Amino acid sequence: DEVRPYRGRFAPSPTGPLHFGSLLCALASYLHAKQRNGEWLVRIEDIDTPRVEKDSPEKILSALQAHGLRWDLDIVFQSQRQHIYNTYLSKLEKANSLYACACTRSQIKLRSPSYDGYCRSAGLPFMGNSVRFIHTTNNSEFSDLFWGQQHINTSVAREDPVLRRADDIFCYHMAVVVDDIEQGITHIVRGGDLSEATPVQLSLYQALKEPTPRYMHIPMVVKRANVKLSKQRGAPAIDSTKAVDNLKLALAYLGMDRGAIAHLTTTAKILHWAIEHWQPKLMPKQSELLISIENDVY
Ligand code: GLU
Repeated sequence: DEVRPYRGRFAPSPTGPLHFGSLLCALASYLHAKQRNGEWLVRIEDIDTPRVEKDSPEKILSALQAHGLRWDLDIVFQSQRQHIYNTYLSKLEKANSLYACACTRSQIKLRSPSYDGYCRSAGLPFMGNSVRFIHTTNNSEFSDLFWGQQHINTSVAREDPVLRRADDIFCYHMAVVVDDIEQGITHIVRGGDLSEATPVQLSLYQALKEPTPRYMHIPMVVKRANVKLSKQRGAPAIDSTKAVDNLKLALAYLGMDRGAIAHLTTTAKILHWAIEHWQPKLMPKQSELLISIENDVY
């Protein structure tokens, strides 16, 4: 294996402002990169244009800055990269790894809980249909840098994902893999809700004959059991005027010693300490971290 210089990233979808859960992802990916003298990139995943909030990228970026999380290189916006996704889609087409699918969501649901490959041999035209990846590799087991060996339900892990929708919008799996390839990302530190997406994404790297990144999925912040703190569910914006306190709290959620940083008064000092002391294994081995009201994030 070639050794590539460490490059990590934070890739928020701009569907709202930065909230406490996304601060945790940003921070963990930042610390892991900086501890390894790596670069840390920020990419705005504004591919799903209808759900994007116009001023959200601006808000997310200024919140990151207020917390001292400085990114390397230029910000990339997925909405401007259609042509690149098309190039990679053509590569997959040339490798006979694609087919067009005309099934509606309700038709699929009636047949099986996940997509059953119904259109694989139908020979439908790509134009006006969604385009799926012929998923023949099995990556339902992968090694996570925090959780160790992971086993994802094979019906999810081995599904033929839609890469481009009938309305020509590229889907999350395609955009994220292509961007991570193009940006030379070696390590992906992200929320645990995306573990299930990893097998499909690994298969796409393999089909494109590209080196796969390492993955670390971090515990997810939830409002209550199974209810993720999310922009769609109205999680409050992080208050950037309290950046020092927010960082301390976020580090405590990541398992770090809150007492040791209690006396620090700037984001720079806190991050400096955290880069030195960051250890993924200190994170609680729980898929969900219940946010506590007393902590005043809510
Ligand atoms: N844009 C995705 C999100 O905000 C994250 C993508 C990723 O980290 O792979 O949930």
